Amino acid sequence: MFVMGTIILLLGLLGGILSLGFFIYSVIRKKPKKLGGIALAVSVIAIIIGAATASTPLQLSVNAVQLTTDAQGVATIEGEVSENAKITLDGKNIKNVKGTFSETVQLSDEKEHTYVLKASLNKVVKDEKIVVEPSKEFIAILQEEKKEKELLAKTETALALAESTPNQKNYDEAATLVHSLSKTYDDYDKRLKTIEENITIYEAVETAEKSLARKDLEEAVKQVALASLNKEELNNRVTSLQTKIEEKEEQEKLYAQAAKAVEAAEKSPSNSLCDTATTAIAKLPATDEGLTKRVAAVQQIVKDNEEKERKEKQEQEKKEQLAKAEQERQAAEQEQQAAIAQQEAEQAAANQAEEHVLVTATGSKYHTHKCGNGTYYDAPLSEALARGLTPCSKCY
Ligand SMILES: [Zn+2]
Repeated sequence: MFVMGTIILLLGLLGGILSLGFFIYSVIRKKPKKLGGIALAVSVIAIIIGAATASTPLQLSVNAVQLTTDAQGVATIEGEVSENAKITLDGKNIKNVKGTFSETVQLSDEKEHTYVLKASLNKVVKDEKIVVEPSKEFIAILQEEKKEKELLAKTETALALAESTPNQKNYDEAATLVHSLSKTYDDYDKRLKTIEENITIYEAVETAEKSLARKDLEEAVKQVALASLNKEELNNRVTSLQTKIEEKEEQEKLYAQAAKAVEAAEKSPSNSLCDTATTAIAKLPATDEGLTKRVAAVQQIVKDNEEKERKEKQEQEKKEQLAKAEQERQAAEQEQQAAIAQQEAEQAAANQAEEHVLVTATGSKYHTHKCGNGTYYDAPLSEALARGLTPCSKCY
């Protein structure tokens, strides 16, 4: 624009001189002055426009195109510019103070940044690029800040975890992080304190959940009433714990009943006690192998006993049969002997009825009484007759 203005100005001056010469020549020669006048007027206008344009060239200069920030990441871009020019830095307007400007910039990270400075005047635009690089101190501070930020994020996470699960381990981890921060944060100290107060409460619930003991549940209920963290969640847990413990107690009751029934069957094995035990075991929520095996053992004993009894009964029956046979045999024998005895008795009776005589061993007579010397024997008459003895004449 500046060059173009200069050309217009030069052309205007040249045209002016020529048209002025032509105009003077026309006046001297008394020729029509109209054409020369128009050319002169045009030239004057060109001179005015050219001078106006060329006389205000846009100027822009910066003090330094390469800057390093201070420890805070701040640098100042300074320079001079045409007094009426409008200037922007990275698209943002900055002040033009009577032909000078001074703008501080702040780097946001460890990277260097190239700023674009633009000046414009009468549609003429000029720009400059300024590279601002972070100082070592600023980089160090940024890294320190980054570390602290990371530590803060970690602390926040640890605190959130400890708040959702306030046990000793989570508390210790959060507390260690809070104390490792370079500053003291009241909010964090307060949160830690709340977590610490809730550890006992939380642990009471966990203990009860592990033991499923009524005593622990009662303690947990007492503690949860004091909770300041996750109270609703803890209440829900305690409620479901109550149900679980009741179920467990019911199961224990069923188990005790089954065990008792099995013991009774073991004490006096019988089919009916085995059946009772089997029914009790069937009521258990899960198959109990121990009790089932014990009942099976009792059932085997019952079966063995029955078999033994059956054999004993058989043997007894056999014995009884033998005894009966013997009795019958003895009865028959007795009967026979009785018959014989009777016969003998009859014989004896018959014998007794017969007449008896006295005989000697050698005599040929039989007697009614001892007559004479010798040894006399009693003998039936029939026998004496059979020996051929004859009656004694003295006795008969
Ligand atoms: Zn005689």
